[in-house]
Amino acid sequence: MTEATALAVTVLARQRLALGVGSEVSYFTGTHLYAPGSVVRGALAAAWIAENGPPDRADPAKRREFGDLFDGAIRFGPLHVQGSDRVPVSAYLCKYPRTDDCRLVAVDRAFESGSDCPACRGPLEQGKGEVQLPDGVSAARVMRTSIDRQTGRAKVDELYAHGALPAGSRLEGTIFGRHPWLEAARRLRLGGRRTVGGAADYHAAPHCPTRPQWTVTGYSSGWPAPASSSTPPAGRPSPPTRQWTWPGHESSRSGRGR
Ligand SMILES: [Zn+2]
Repeated sequence: MTEATALAVTVLARQRLALGVGSEVSYFTGTHLYAPGSVVRGALAAAWIAENGPPDRADPAKRREFGDLFDGAIRFGPLHVQGSDRVPVSAYLCKYPRTDDCRLVAVDRAFESGSDCPACRGPLEQGKGEVQLPDGVSAARVMRTSIDRQTGRAKVDELYAHGALPAGSRLEGTIFGRHPWLEAARRLRLGGRRTVGGAADYHAAPHCPTRPQWTVTGYSSGWPAPASSSTPPAGRPSPPTRQWTWPGHESSRSGRGR
């Protein structure tokens, strides 16, 4: 039997998660559509400190535990919303999709050439490995303002917004390494805006990591078939089913709607 050397992590967002990308553009701070490993590590380290106090003031055994957990060999992988996908860099997608047909077709340079959108003949844009949330899930845009203490009203010109994953999102990922402290369920504060969001329930279970494999099924429906022309199938193409198989972590989604 293979020894479980990792932890399968599940996090259920109880509040919105602002997984900020840091830069603010026109008073809007976007959000990552996943929790980077550094955010997961930071949230767990903050939970440890909330339970035990700062490590530099803890007793030697506790200080060693903190070091083993957060400065040792354990690696914290990113957490992705269940059912999300990454757009392969070989996929070229319609740059200005106007219809569902545009959104559902792609020219995959791994198998064929073609420089315009098979549905509208418009320009294509290369996939960048970006994360796509599953159908029906989208990042929320949260508005906030500063309140003038004198008038009790919103201050003029102080309206901001940030992106956030909605409450109820279930994220999954892997921690590479084992430690009893990491195997206990607990409440985390994940990401930024922690006065108004970020509460999430963390669970972890021993897991044998294996190398992930792409399996692509239904390739001939929405995504052009290998060695075919880039002409879309007659009528509305039905969405493809792409499956990401990782033993114990199967997910599938169809289409690439947002
Ligand atoms: Zn198009």
